[in-house]
Amino acid sequence: MVEKSVALVTGASSGIGESFARLLAQRGHDLVLVARRADRLEAVAGQTTREHGAAAEVLVADLESDEGIRIVEARLSDASRPVELVVNNAGFGTSGRFHEMPVEAEEAEIKLNVLALVRLTHVALTGMVERGHGGVINVSSVAAYQPTPESATYAATKAFVSSFTNAIHEELNGTGVKAMVLAPGFTHTEFHERAGVDAPSQLPEFLWQSADEVVTAALKAYESGRAVCVPGPINSVAAAVSGAMPAGVSRRIAALVTKRAH
Ligand code: NAP
Repeated sequence: MVEKSVALVTGASSGIGESFARLLAQRGHDLVLVARRADRLEAVAGQTTREHGAAAEVLVADLESDEGIRIVEARLSDASRPVELVVNNAGFGTSGRFHEMPVEAEEAEIKLNVLALVRLTHVALTGMVERGHGGVINVSSVAAYQPTPESATYAATKAFVSSFTNAIHEELNGTGVKAMVLAPGFTHTEFHERAGVDAPSQLPEFLWQSADEVVTAALKAYESGRAVCVPGPINSVAAAVSGAMPAGVSRRIAALVTKRAH
């Protein structure tokens, strides 16, 4: 029997990560599903096995902690069960004026969105480059394209993810290994509720995508070897325009959008 290749998805218990799990299983991958909520991961594992015949391992890990990161690092460095694709998707956002929010939540956001992603990318690429194949998709955001008032730390973590992953994409030339950054815009998931903002009722529906739309675009872009995927025409234009504007203008526009969304 030909072994299926394995994809590891962090934050697979809801939203974009859950969609990655389902759509990767549909494309014939086995799965390693990572997040904190075991019951939700078990449900995703059960569904992907039933509907697509995927073998799905559940790894319960809190990626804000060193211990949680080590659990996933250990799985990624197990050469007897190599992982072909890592999707570093787990992330959250805080919203509000930076100096008024508890600094502990800002720190946790940096640990999850940046530190865990760097460590998991490192251990994954070490094995992949030795094997000469595999790849990483790191989930950023269109928030990476400009400083974003009232989401200051969040946007800065995503700017890190985009810069870091673009650089690695170039370093990996000729190795057979890929790295791509996915920068979604407003996507219907649990993200905004967790961030304590009511964006879904405040912003018009045409600005939004479903998680499946985002992931379908991401997998197509990854397969064609792209460095960056900004899914959907509205997000692509927003990212391009923001990058071309004077910084003072783009951050004021970002402030208007967050004021409306929060
Ligand atoms: P979501 O539905 O809230 O999903 C977030 C996922 O991250 C969940 O599976 C959650 O699982 C996991 N997670 C959170 N904290 C974790 C921790 N400490 N350790 C391990 N896993 C953790 O939101 P989403 O929109 O799908 O977010 C996925 C990614 O997309 C994030 O990186 C986000 O920044 C990015 N993004 C989202 C949007 C949007 O509009 N939704 C736009 C741009 C970018 P548990 O709670 O079970 O641990």
